[in-house]
Amino acid sequence: MVRRIEFPRIVLAGHGCIDQVGPVSLEVSQGKNVLIVTGDKTKKVAGDKVASLMRGSGFNVSTHITEKATQESVEQAAGIVKKDKVNLVIGVGGGTCIDVAKVSSFQQKVPFISVPTAASHDGVGSPIASIKNKGKKQASQITSTPIAIIADTKIISTAPRRLMAAGCGDIVSNYTAVEDWKLAHKLKGVLFMDYAAALSIMSAQVILDSANIIAEYSEESAKTVIEGLISSGAAMCIAGSSRPCSGAEHLFSHALDRIAPKPALHGEQCGLGAIMMAYLHKLDWGRFKHVLELVGAPTTAKELGVEDKHIIEALAMAHTIRDRYTILGENGLSKKKAEKVARATQVIG
Ligand SMILES: [Zn+2]
Repeated sequence: MVRRIEFPRIVLAGHGCIDQVGPVSLEVSQGKNVLIVTGDKTKKVAGDKVASLMRGSGFNVSTHITEKATQESVEQAAGIVKKDKVNLVIGVGGGTCIDVAKVSSFQQKVPFISVPTAASHDGVGSPIASIKNKGKKQASQITSTPIAIIADTKIISTAPRRLMAAGCGDIVSNYTAVEDWKLAHKLKGVLFMDYAAALSIMSAQVILDSANIIAEYSEESAKTVIEGLISSGAAMCIAGSSRPCSGAEHLFSHALDRIAPKPALHGEQCGLGAIMMAYLHKLDWGRFKHVLELVGAPTTAKELGVEDKHIIEALAMAHTIRDRYTILGENGLSKKKAEKVARATQVIG
């Protein structure tokens, strides 16, 4: 069997590296037409700057503003790529902008550069995207890997604290994801890849070991978290799937997205899910909880802003989200068992 692995060609992470967006684009683009996908707020934070830097490097710039990662927004962006004969798409912003840029560029077969303005989730460097279809959030789809990542820590460190804490939750959940992957390999014969798993675990380990630095919310913290997210993305590039970084805790998060009236951030939900799945895996869930508390991520339903009953319901339906074998098994948790897990880990009171 031959495996194809696609990594980003250029990764820049550091203070002020956004200034390199023009030269990097000249290296990777086949032409001079570029589409910037950004949000209302992130346009002011970095989108406008990227546009002017790109013009300065001789590019013709089109812009698509997106507020939600929906099929509609992807179609609009893809339409601009077609109409303006765009050679390169740049996603400037959080998860929404990056996902819309990722999927639209993939559909139109042009390369894509990821310019995250926050360290909130591991989609910044992965080939995986999550787009809502008819109001429902889909689990995930595989697209192509960003050809370059430009992570300016000066910008990322000014994002709201909550976003960086969420990023930590997304990375800590690599632990339970890899445990689930091992289990699926053992019980269901799912292909397991040691290198991808090891890289995923290492990324999570760095977050656990650096929790005190991260808690300072300095530029150093931003660098640590964004690098963890990028190396998580690399683990997914090796695996060619989200397996190394997405197990039962992600199923729980997707379930919450469907049933909670006001879901929280992806990484916040995954981090909280990881505490409960670690309990089921008999891992040191207390350590995960402690680290998430240290970095300011929610570890209870109340802090997450979700009702207890929705936590229980999400746990009980998580196994139905997609065909991915995890610690939840084929039949999932009963509501009684779900409640027990949530209480034992102090997620609900
Ligand atoms: Zn995730």
